[in-house]
Amino acid sequence: MSKNQNKTGSYSFFNCIEKNFDKAARFISIEKGLLEQIKACNSVYRMHFPVKIGKEVKVIEAYRVQHSHHKLPCKGGIRYSMKVNQDEIMTLAALMTYKCAIVDVPFGGAKGGIKIDPQTISSENIEKITRRYTSELIKKNFIGPGIDVPAPDYGTGEKEMSWIFDTFLSLRSGDVDALACVTGKPISQGGVRGRKEATGLGVFYGIRELCHVKEEMYSVGLDVGLVGKKIIIQGLGNVGYHAASFFHESGAIIIALAEREGAIYNKKGLNVSKVFLHLKNNGSILNFPEAKNIENTEKALELECDILIPAALENVIHKNNANRIKAKIIGEAANGPITPEADEILDKKGVIIVPDIYLNAGGVTVSYFEWLKNLSHVRYGRMEKKFRENVNAEFLKVIETICKKKISIEEKKMILRGPREIDLVRSGLEDTMINGFHKIRDIKKSLKIENMRTAAFVLSINKIIDSYEKLGIFP
Ligand code: GLU
Repeated sequence: MSKNQNKTGSYSFFNCIEKNFDKAARFISIEKGLLEQIKACNSVYRMHFPVKIGKEVKVIEAYRVQHSHHKLPCKGGIRYSMKVNQDEIMTLAALMTYKCAIVDVPFGGAKGGIKIDPQTISSENIEKITRRYTSELIKKNFIGPGIDVPAPDYGTGEKEMSWIFDTFLSLRSGDVDALACVTGKPISQGGVRGRKEATGLGVFYGIRELCHVKEEMYSVGLDVGLVGKKIIIQGLGNVGYHAASFFHESGAIIIALAEREGAIYNKKGLNVSKVFLHLKNNGSILNFPEAKNIENTEKALELECDILIPAALENVIHKNNANRIKAKIIGEAANGPITPEADEILDKKGVIIVPDIYLNAGGVTVSYFEWLKNLSHVRYGRMEKKFRENVNAEFLKVIETICKKKISIEEKKMILRGPREIDLVRSGLEDTMINGFHKIRDIKKSLKIENMRTAAFVLSINKIIDSYEKLGIFP
């Protein structure tokens, strides 16, 4: 057993990312020490603070890790889970650095976590913990629009981001940019339209782009296009839920959905909105009338399908189940769902793995849009919507005159409309995901790299090196 392996023989999560990094480093000729600096976590803040819950005082363990300061602010979500530990948060912070570089989001990577089970704690107590955590971050200068900007992650959402903003503002009153201290806020609190579904939509755009490349599809024996592809989604949190909806709407067939309590399967396809209604009414996806239950949820990953989307937590595909995975494409909607050992097994089988550091970057991309909106203090589209509509109307009039033809009211509505915030956010995200995909693919082809993950790391590391060089830190 190597020094990096734990008792069960598997690598720590951080070592997994280091392994992926080292594979990419073989394609980069730069001094080793400089690569070590990019790999290292710059700052790790581990804290304990007391919170009175009922009559008892509970000591809460929490973290904020800033992996890289090559661009500021640092950026990354905050997760609430009993599995939170330093190794996990360090790894997720590192993934944020690589992710931001790939999609040209000018932030360093960070991540936070509080070791609590939000399912078993009342909303009032979660609020208390969140506010106390935020004030601990403020005390140590670990949060701020130009310092470090948290966002939602596993177990957190708009509510928590609102509490973070409110606590920040109350301790920094008069800071005109305070709204930009956190993203993923509700619209009424400075959030941006389209942030909630952004990660799931980014996953959809990324996979759709892959499915449009003939060469890639033929390499795994599939037809071009997303329509009719059989998809399995594991995890129906914010990311999995939205990804499932977008895939379903686009004509793909969702044959299985897996959650903690079990999975459901129908080879002809599940009606995703009906499943969500069933989940809402029953608190579980199991016993959905138009599907078969699969008691052991892990078995759902091993079903015959074209595309498998793990959208929950890390390390769900490991050396013990990788050989049984039958998917031809795996889209990593979650962070780190495949261990390095499993990665090698799947690579040998010829599976296309679309890596997390690219595929789930939609969330941080739209967080970037939210941050920009907060700093500019104006909603996207507010200045140009009416202007665009007026120009379009003039343009249409000219066309109607030249063609001597009247355009129908319905067509007019379509052509005349100026961009709303949601249109701009979604098109910005779509463009980002399409560009990111082709940049990775170009590197993969030009350097003859074996898989997309290594190519994505090469792209990302090169961009980080470039910004260190421009900063003057690297000679
Ligand atoms: N938690 C999300 C992620 O892992 C989003 C981070 C952000 O928006 O800053 O990418």
